[in-house]
Amino acid sequence: MKVALIGIGQAGGKVVERLTKFDAEMDFDAVQGAFAINSATPDLQSLEHVETHLIGADRVNGHGVGGDNELGAEIMQSDVQEVLGDLDGHVTSRSEAIFVVAGLGGGTGSGGAPVLVHHLQQVYDIPVYALGILPGRNEGSLYQANAGRSLKTIVREADATILVDNDAWHSQGESVESGFESINQNIAQRFGLLFASGEAVEGVGESVVDSSEVINTLRQGGIAALGYASAPASDDSTQNIRSVMSVSRQALLTGTSLPEARVGDAALLVIAGKPETIPRKGVEKARRWLEDETESMQVRGGDFPLDSDRIAALVLLGGVERSDRIQEFLDRARAAQRVEDEKAAGDPADAFANDELENLF
Ligand code: GDP
Repeated sequence: MKVALIGIGQAGGKVVERLTKFDAEMDFDAVQGAFAINSATPDLQSLEHVETHLIGADRVNGHGVGGDNELGAEIMQSDVQEVLGDLDGHVTSRSEAIFVVAGLGGGTGSGGAPVLVHHLQQVYDIPVYALGILPGRNEGSLYQANAGRSLKTIVREADATILVDNDAWHSQGESVESGFESINQNIAQRFGLLFASGEAVEGVGESVVDSSEVINTLRQGGIAALGYASAPASDDSTQNIRSVMSVSRQALLTGTSLPEARVGDAALLVIAGKPETIPRKGVEKARRWLEDETESMQVRGGDFPLDSDRIAALVLLGGVERSDRIQEFLDRARAAQRVEDEKAAGDPADAFANDELENLF
């Protein structure tokens, strides 16, 4: 699937940069245009592989919006015609979908992404998807509340929203910063493979996945998740049947971008590896298992021929919004919103709230 990528805010820009690099290193050529938009100049300056656009210079002078996602939405709205003009040459006629990428818990991406998606929908007739990053459980209440509002709006505007939870796809015991590095690398690899799997690969493989399978899996709209797992390929075909089954299970059960999101409306199972190591029997079995497990009547599937010593499974699961994980996040976001509202109003129980009297020390 040929895609145009637009990252908004710090996380959005970094992830788009990583994805673009991965696509180029692998020679996939699925990424047709890569763009980063931010209200903070330093965040844009750190990007090398994407075109950049600064918004809100008249309001925040390149300093960003802090965690104020309403301001993020406002400045995107004010500058949107300029942004669309700039994007014009980047969303080429070859793109089959646009992905708007943002951390939903911040300010510029959280507020700006839903606004931009809304406007892109008016201009382009290809699907406009969101790749949204949810704050991890330990991130503060402002992040949670921002992400709740942003998610609600972006799900309304986008053709589908694929979520990556910051509590998934990183190793235990990492610092926040190195955690982001490995999450971003995993996003780049996994989404990069998903985009490339919809590309025509000549001369190899039996049932190559078509872009329309990705688009049809996401057709119901709402929220989607992406799962991934891999294992070494073997010379023994019985072992490879077992491996296809086990990587498919792991992709859904433990390797997903949205932990515990297992039930959906539609799924796509892509098995990647050397064609001679991908056993039909294993793929069919894994597909049937996925149908049962996800309670989805529509499980599409295909092979992605890849010159690798491993066998990998990618599971795209559409229509997961009823999952417990989403409900749990929304509860957390609502509770956080109450905390933020109380902070803004001042706690009535605190006689010194919002006081001009400053403490001595
Ligand atoms: P913005 O620049 O105002 O849009 O804000 P950010 O992009 O920094 O968004 C903040 C949210 O994104 C928080 O939930 C962070 O945990 C998350 N975040 C920030 N940087 C990264 C990153 O590089 N990778 C990932 N996965 N999440 C990030």
